[in-house]
Amino acid sequence: MTDRAPSLQAWYGGTFDPIHYGHLRAVEALAKEANLTQVTMLPNNVPPHRPQPGASSVQRKAMVELAIAGNPLFRLDDRELQRPTPSWTSETMAQLRRESGPDAPLAFIIGQDSLLTLRTWHRYESLLNCCHLLVCRRPGYPVEMKTAEDRQWLAARLASDARELHRQPAGKIYLADTPLYPISATDIRTRLARQQPCDDLLPQAVLDYIHHHALYR
Ligand code: ATP
Repeated sequence: MTDRAPSLQAWYGGTFDPIHYGHLRAVEALAKEANLTQVTMLPNNVPPHRPQPGASSVQRKAMVELAIAGNPLFRLDDRELQRPTPSWTSETMAQLRRESGPDAPLAFIIGQDSLLTLRTWHRYESLLNCCHLLVCRRPGYPVEMKTAEDRQWLAARLASDARELHRQPAGKIYLADTPLYPISATDIRTRLARQQPCDDLLPQAVLDYIHHHALYR
């Protein structure tokens, strides 16, 4: 992209249990493609009625900090971890919209698997009123949404070009052409429990932290 446009602020939510290269490298590629200068990691609070992460909030936050240390693309916002109540993405993005003003282009980043379930999310339409959605490709998940109605819904919101995201504050869905990273936190936890190597799957500093704190045994 060559033309000057308002800077698009992006947030990346997840459990990050633990953070891995599937998160980091996909978003780095997305940042180049969509001209993002800053991505804010937003680790989420897992509500008590959902399966609990293997690592605590404090540990998941610490691992994100280690993973992004020294990388100027990333920063961390721990607001969802500070709340005792479940954190809905739509509410967090509404809060960020209020803080940023009505005109700033804002985006929330998800993987393809999350896009497929998006229309089951709490107030997903209001989420799109607050921000764009940037979708990274992810291996192992269908490219298309399931029903014809879902596909129509998506087609009506698709951004044809990343530049569109910088020109309007919210409402578009951008399917990025990011490389495929066959990595998941579930697989990493399973490998760690079986004492299998995970060297190329996540940053060494995160792996050292996991071993030091005897996580995911
Ligand atoms: P788990 O295996 O525990 O479900 P996960 O690896 O999917 O975890 P999350 O923290 O739940 O990681 O994911 C946060 C976001 O990152 C989600 O939007 C998810 O789609 C995306 N994501 C995770 N792994 C990848 C990957 N390998 N490629 C692209 N996107 C990914």
